Amino acid sequence: MEGKSGLEGRLEPLLAGTPGLERDHRDARGRSLGPPEVLRESIPGADVTLTIDAEWQRHAYGLLATSSGSIVVVEADSGAIRVLAGSPGFDPDRPAAPLPDGRPASQLNRPARAAMPPGSVVKPFVAIAGYRAGVSPEAKTHCGGSVRLAGWLRPFHCNVRSGHGDVDLARSLQVSCNVYYFQLVQRTGASRMLDELRRFGFGTPTGCGLPGEAAGQPSGEPEPSEGESLNLSIGQGRMLATPLQIARAYAAIANGGTLPGLHVVESAVRADGTQERVPSGPRETAAIPAEARAAILEGLYRAVNASGGTARKAGFAPEWRVCGKTGTVENPQGTSDAWFAGFYPRENPRYVVVVQVEDVDGHGGEIAAPVARDMIAFMEGAAPATPPPALQEAAALP
Ligand SMILES: [Zn+2]
Repeated sequence: MEGKSGLEGRLEPLLAGTPGLERDHRDARGRSLGPPEVLRESIPGADVTLTIDAEWQRHAYGLLATSSGSIVVVEADSGAIRVLAGSPGFDPDRPAAPLPDGRPASQLNRPARAAMPPGSVVKPFVAIAGYRAGVSPEAKTHCGGSVRLAGWLRPFHCNVRSGHGDVDLARSLQVSCNVYYFQLVQRTGASRMLDELRRFGFGTPTGCGLPGEAAGQPSGEPEPSEGESLNLSIGQGRMLATPLQIARAYAAIANGGTLPGLHVVESAVRADGTQERVPSGPRETAAIPAEARAAILEGLYRAVNASGGTARKAGFAPEWRVCGKTGTVENPQGTSDAWFAGFYPRENPRYVVVVQVEDVDGHGGEIAAPVARDMIAFMEGAAPATPPPALQEAAALP
């Protein structure tokens, strides 16, 4: 079978090999005059090994069985993608047919192609822009629940209308205070924030080798107004990111500042034993200042493990030492898109886990964080396997 879509389409030249060429010798009445003459030997396709962990991937599909969204797991140092699950998928035999539960089929490879507002999961990167502009992690901002701008009828609200009081960097991540970031971008200016977001790969496809990857954005053209800058600082408005972009940027926080080269192919070996070059994204440095990283790790750790943390109620096991950030983006029709992005363990993080669930009634901490908790529980051998769903996206290959 020829690979038509997704990763199979991209790997087709590796998988297919080169057909041989033979010439038959027959007499005038069609009788064979002996074995065919081999003009060119056929070359079998390469033996391709993916980085995807089949058990983890199956579990991720189970967790997404009734929702629309993505789960991505990436190795923080190597950039190897271990889970790449998107839902809804499609039936490879009938790509346009509705799913058994009535939902329309989707051929979007969501983790790579669905660029959406990331909401508060971008806050650590905006915080780094603030640090580079001279804002100390210890400096406190007062959150009274909202910020007013001249010319705007409605105030820009925090997620807690009564306000968070005095907030430093670590606490701003623990409780996801918007006002801290509004005031940060008012101080640093939009262009510094946009530069920082681009430094962490936002606005550029990761280059992981999957076809049709979205670039997403922060859009700096035309220059954002003050109000648009405030929205950008909390990952809304002119900010779009794919789950894979979020995973790569969080990997840089996890490993100390290297944006790893994301890849889904572990190795490809030809039948004659030669190694094929496998596609991988670029490995780049984002140079995170150590003092800023320490405060961010503390904030992300508290968001998951400390009282008042936005992901605390999801109940991540303390021994996993998970650091993470929730995000909630309200849709015009009244529902929300929920995010969780994190990594563990806090000391020498191995895995980055990103969950995005669309069109739900609830916050990132209520919807996406519990999915991440269940994913990590399975990865850590602390949860039974979920029953496999009826359909898996893109059949055998992700
Ligand atoms: Zn606040």
